[in-house]
Amino acid sequence: MAAERTTPAVTDARPAGGNRHWPVIVLILLAGTMIVAALAGLWLVSHKERDYASPGQHIEVWQSYNLRLQLESLIDIARAVDDSHARAAELKLRLGVMRTALSPLLHTHAFDFLDPPRRAAVRATLERLAQHSDSWLQALERRDRASAHRIAGEVLSSLPQERQAVHDVIAAANVAVATQLDHERRSLQRTFHWLTATLIILAVGCLLLALEIFITQRRTRRLAIELQQLNASLERRVLERTRLLHERETLLRTILESTPSDVTLLSADQRRVFYVSDNLLMQSGIDRAESFRLEALFVDADDYAHFLERLERNEAIHQMETQLCPHAPYWALLTARPLQVHAQSAWLIWCLDITRHHRMQERLEQLAATDALTGLNNRRALLRATVYHLRRRRSAPLSVLLIDIDHFKRINDQHGHPVGDEALRSIARRLQALLREETLIGRVGGEEFAVVLPDTPIEDAVTVAERLRGAIAETPLEIDATLSLSVTLSIGLTRWLEGDTLKRMMRRADRGLYRAKAEGRNRVVLADEE
Ligand code: GH3
Ligand code: MG
Ligand code: MG
Repeated sequence: MAAERTTPAVTDARPAGGNRHWPVIVLILLAGTMIVAALAGLWLVSHKERDYASPGQHIEVWQSYNLRLQLESLIDIARAVDDSHARAAELKLRLGVMRTALSPLLHTHAFDFLDPPRRAAVRATLERLAQHSDSWLQALERRDRASAHRIAGEVLSSLPQERQAVHDVIAAANVAVATQLDHERRSLQRTFHWLTATLIILAVGCLLLALEIFITQRRTRRLAIELQQLNASLERRVLERTRLLHERETLLRTILESTPSDVTLLSADQRRVFYVSDNLLMQSGIDRAESFRLEALFVDADDYAHFLERLERNEAIHQMETQLCPHAPYWALLTARPLQVHAQSAWLIWCLDITRHHRMQERLEQLAATDALTGLNNRRALLRATVYHLRRRRSAPLSVLLIDIDHFKRINDQHGHPVGDEALRSIARRLQALLREETLIGRVGGEEFAVVLPDTPIEDAVTVAERLRGAIAETPLEIDATLSLSVTLSIGLTRWLEGDTLKRMMRRADRGLYRAKAEGRNRVVLADEE
């Protein structure tokens, strides 16, 4: 549950790290723009201040007053010339002064701020005066009295009428300068409004970005602290887990080492040996645990192949009996189960030494199959072996002899039971000695024996039966130094017929034996086959 809590914190930190620089870059850009805008504002103020401080600015009013003054002076001089109180040169000077006073008014743009009719009227007045002045200046000779008189007359006839027009020019100059100033003031006001708005927007932008950077930094710091705490807790948990793991490993090792079985835990490809008990390693004849191989442990290669095949099929193996340790073989019960170790397929194998148990079992099996008195097969073992032969004989012939000692009761009666036992043992030994190794012989009753002859046709079986009967009949049994007994055998025999059961075949042999007894004993009788 704790692990689930940690994951989102780690993923949260990622976007903050990715584009963390953009607000800083934008902030720098905004601040730069702000500085540029402020500098532009300063430049504008200083520029305008210089304009206003310059003496040549907005002097159209003064120039128009000057024009009227010059006009009046010219009229006065013209009157004096006319009365011959002044000379031509004085008139020419006045004319020149007035022309000079006209010039700046003719070229100024201040009148552009007037309404069009008034502007036209002013321009017309100024041009008229300029025209008159220019033509009079051209016509007037400095020392020519006559032309001076004529021009003074012209001045006096035309200029007094222009008084009102020049007065209008003065009024127009006043209005024009006032309008121009007002226009400039408003334009400056607009510029300052724009500049203020721009600076405010930039300042707000800077503020927001600074806020964003501040918040991001706080979040980054908080995340870093959380990450540190997370790391610390993770480290603690890893340490705790490692300790637990170590404890468990020690516990597991203790359990494995104190178990009565030998154990190994190895990867399914047998490349990694996670654990192998010392005893097992020693038995495999390999000195290093890393080189331990299962194959080296098995005595029987087929058993190993079978064991491996089942494990590779992912089968759990329960108590498979096999011989281990080729150097000093012993019987073991193998139990194995496939499992996962470090996400790798592995096998856990237990080997339990059952040599003693196995020996006991073998002994018991032997006891169960052996007749205690004679050491031959007992009835059950003989019949089982016969069934085994019958199953695998296919078409080969098989014969059975049923042997009974004649008048055995008499031996018991005359010499006692121990002598009877010794006689039975002696006959058993002799019969066994007369037969080939692969021939089956067993004691199937008190003084009855059976012989099974695999791969033997009935004619040969008769020969064998006669040989046995003759041998016993001809040579008396040496019981001890003082006692020897003459004994005969009656033998019934038969062969295996198509479709026979063991029971039926034995019954037929028994009928043969019965007939041998009935016909006088010490003989071999081939049973009827009906
Ligand atoms: P026949 O078969 O020729 O008809 O006569 P028999 O005397 O052999 O026949 P019967 O079957 O009557 O007797 C068998 C005797 O074998 C009876 C029994 O006391 C004796 N007998 C059976 N088992 C043993 C044994 O293990 N030891 C001894 N000593 N005698 C045994
Ligand atoms: Mg008998
Ligand atoms: Mg008998």
